Amino acid sequence: MKIKRLDIVGFKSFVDKVSFDFQQGITGIVGPNGCGKSNVVDAIRWAMGEQSAKNLRGRSMEDIIFGGSEFRKPLGMAEVSMVFATDDGRVPAKYLSYSEIQITRRLYRDGESEYFLNKTPCRLMDITELFMDTGVGARAYSIIEQGKIGMILHSKPEERRFIIEEAAGVTKFKARKQVALKKIDLTRQNLLRIGDILSEIK
Ligand code: ATP
Repeated sequence: MKIKRLDIVGFKSFVDKVSFDFQQGITGIVGPNGCGKSNVVDAIRWAMGEQSAKNLRGRSMEDIIFGGSEFRKPLGMAEVSMVFATDDGRVPAKYLSYSEIQITRRLYRDGESEYFLNKTPCRLMDITELFMDTGVGARAYSIIEQGKIGMILHSKPEERRFIIEEAAGVTKFKARKQVALKKIDLTRQNLLRIGDILSEIK
């Protein structure tokens, strides 16, 4: 899945709306220390559903909302939108009819959080599912930050397997298996209850 556009407002150092249009080929972001280069990657990771403030270099999730500066008051909301092209064949079948997919995540200072898929409110699960097995996603191998290559090389075989499974397209099926197993468990419990009720009636 190729990123076409990234819109950031109120996220970390991006107080006013900033839009990045990604063209064909490689895009480089350059700038002096502390100007916000890594914040762009944090914004991408966050929009794709990252739940850990630590992975976004913060203490709590509220830290991602613009916290004010010498000249600007803190903001009450952060919003990041990403637009993806759908023409590389890695998009789930149900989205193939769309020429592009837009995801949006919003966070208010009171902790309320919202997700949107093509401007329609959705669940975090819908966003996570969209990226499964695409190599994109908050924790997928599309984001290789400082130290990640070393971490992959030194990780335990089970941890490395996670990355290989994502690349092989197995992650989605493993997640679906977990959901199916939970449903089976719930159904078993319901059957037991029905059995109890039936024996009471008899
Ligand atoms: P380096 O080249 O040193 O790695 P960088 O360009 O990657 O730096 P970032 O780490 O992306 O810089 O940005 C750091 C800046 O973002 C700091 O000035 C910090 O004050 C600012 N910042 C981070 N979170 C917030 C926030 N919630 N509100 C306002 N500013 C923030």
